[in-house]
Amino acid sequence: MTFNDLDFNEQLAEGLLSMGYKTPTAIQQMAIPVIMEGKDVIACAQTGTGKTASYLLPVLNMIGAHPNHQIKALILAPTRELAQQIDQQVEGLAYFTEISSMAVFGGGDGMAYAQQKRGIDNKVDILIATPGRLISFLASGSLKLNHLEYLVLDEADRMLDMGFQEDIMRIISYLPAKRQTLLFSATMPSRIRQLARTILHEPEQINIAISQPAVGIKQQIYKVHDEQKTKLLSGILKSGAFTSIIVFSSTKDRVKSLDKELRGSGINAKAFHSDIKQDEREDILLEFKNRQLPVIIGTDALSRGIDVEGIDLVVNYDVPPDPEDYIHRIGRTARAATTGTAITFVNQRDMRRFQSIQQLIEREIEELTLPPELGEAPKFKEEANNRPRNSRGGGNRGRGGRNNGKGGKRRPNSGPKQQSSNG
Ligand code: AMP
Repeated sequence: MTFNDLDFNEQLAEGLLSMGYKTPTAIQQMAIPVIMEGKDVIACAQTGTGKTASYLLPVLNMIGAHPNHQIKALILAPTRELAQQIDQQVEGLAYFTEISSMAVFGGGDGMAYAQQKRGIDNKVDILIATPGRLISFLASGSLKLNHLEYLVLDEADRMLDMGFQEDIMRIISYLPAKRQTLLFSATMPSRIRQLARTILHEPEQINIAISQPAVGIKQQIYKVHDEQKTKLLSGILKSGAFTSIIVFSSTKDRVKSLDKELRGSGINAKAFHSDIKQDEREDILLEFKNRQLPVIIGTDALSRGIDVEGIDLVVNYDVPPDPEDYIHRIGRTARAATTGTAITFVNQRDMRRFQSIQQLIEREIEELTLPPELGEAPKFKEEANNRPRNSRGGGNRGRGGRNNGKGGKRRPNSGPKQQSSNG
């Protein structure tokens, strides 16, 4: 399938061209035609798959190139960062249309609120919002959404994790009952299916195969003792082989101490975690995006939503507790159709977690040899029955592979009609 087959209006096709999108990704191929038919959709897809454009493109096309600037589409997102990134994608794709958009989010002071309010008053076609801030606009009566036709929930699982369920239901009570609703979620726990049953109308279900790392990511590990980790990391960062790097660690405290150690050894790095003020976090992201800051260190909070092109290395300083977090983390590199490297440090304690990752991705990850100056690498006992199922010794079937529905997590078993990338 090509974008031509999707028959977008001329202005949108021009926007696509200027964004450099050539072929639709798997989720786009599946979701766009269904959304253009006017159906509700529940889609299981992670960041990195092109999921944002998979709902933006059909919604932009349906709104048309010459809209009347009444809010037609509302996109709810869990965080300010994601809301802003969605807004940037709207701006890019809709550049040649008259569609206008705006992102509203919490944080900031009264002035920020007033500014966002003025922005909305200036009439927009697409509003992107975090739930808390939107509720305050709606409850004050200063915002009406009577003309709304499209509601999108992006990263719905994360919104529920962050406690937004009640806010979402309240927001929906302000919307016209007749609308098209699209729910996107990286995972499909039962709470999401429950939410979908409440707010979607006979939805079409779209699964792009169980989350798989993008094909362009070179995945590698080092087996290490804890005391070798920081030296190994400094060596990699100082090697000059990589220019835009994210280092993940599982706890905030570890991120903070790692930040100190790295800076102490002369590496230009900054920590990113929830103790840092929103404004400061945004500045850090901007510096990172602009290539003024080569290294950013964060927890899993950073692994979702951050959409920076050209990240060439992701380091897992420790193995994430949930194998799916591994996929989210390494998905920060090799964004749609580029390449990147993901290196994971595995100590004895994390060996089991690491094996769960190999099982999830159904491949063995290449092991690198520790530089000799760091001393002997540990030797771990490998449990024979813990090797990846269907192991293909380093083969990679990319993101369009079969949905194996492991753990029942990715294959909702009730309600909606199913579509999947396996046909
Ligand atoms: P997302 O999964 O929405 O976070 O998108 C990941 C990245 O892929 C973003 O930087 C998009 O701009 C980019 N992208 C989305 N669709 C395409 C496409 N069809 N071709 C190339 N890049 C794309």
